[in-house]
Amino acid sequence: MPEANVQVCPVCTVKIVKSIGGDQVLFSSGPPGTRAKLTARVCQFVTKEGCINKNPALVGEIRPDDYYKPQL
Ligand SMILES: [Zn+2]
Repeated sequence: MPEANVQVCPVCTVKIVKSIGGDQVLFSSGPPGTRAKLTARVCQFVTKEGCINKNPALVGEIRPDDYYKPQL
């Protein structure tokens, strides 16, 4: 996969891979997720300027299972 398709959020330090059918977010641990998942878990808490995952048009709808679930 060409490097040009990979963006790294300078604030969250998470990699976003552009792909057909939806961008893939590579978390530092766990399976890849969506931009909505990244927003639910990380970006919504970011207050610094420069987060590249703040565009609602790209993030899309955040579903309940995009949020962290408490470990039982
Ligand atoms: Zn970010």
